[in-house]
Amino acid sequence: MIKHEQAIETLRLKGHRLTPQRLIVLSIIASSDGHMGVDEVFQAAKKTYPYMDIATVYRTLHLFKDLGVVTEVAIGDRLHFELTDLDGHHHHMVCRACNGAFNLSPHYLAEFRDTLNKEFGFEPDLEHFAVTGICIDCQRSEFESKEKQK
Ligand SMILES: [Zn+2]
Ligand SMILES: [Zn+2]
Repeated sequence: MIKHEQAIETLRLKGHRLTPQRLIVLSIIASSDGHMGVDEVFQAAKKTYPYMDIATVYRTLHLFKDLGVVTEVAIGDRLHFELTDLDGHHHHMVCRACNGAFNLSPHYLAEFRDTLNKEFGFEPDLEHFAVTGICIDCQRSEFESKEKQK
């Protein structure tokens, strides 16, 4: 992953002012492991900076995207923004309970790709591969609410 400081440096080097709005949006994406939609970034930004408006968040995210600092990823039917992955591509696990997205390193799918190649001569497009399921936190809270009902 590109580092938060690296991203700020890129902005500065390319001659973009480090406005509070830009720094807030960047730090929100950096601190949360990204995977946030425009609206989620906006909601989080408003907490630190009440004057933030969604148009600014939108413009800021697209500036970051143009600079290559942030990547827009389609996960399921949602668009997420995350800090650009300098190691190339990663896949995602998406929780259907909380909508959270988690990174999945490509090496977990290397064997799967190999199998499809060897057994079927099939070359899969795994770039947009996402696995849906239930994340560990949601499994825990589900378990806890069941325990309470007993
Ligand atoms: Zn979850
Ligand atoms: Zn990701």
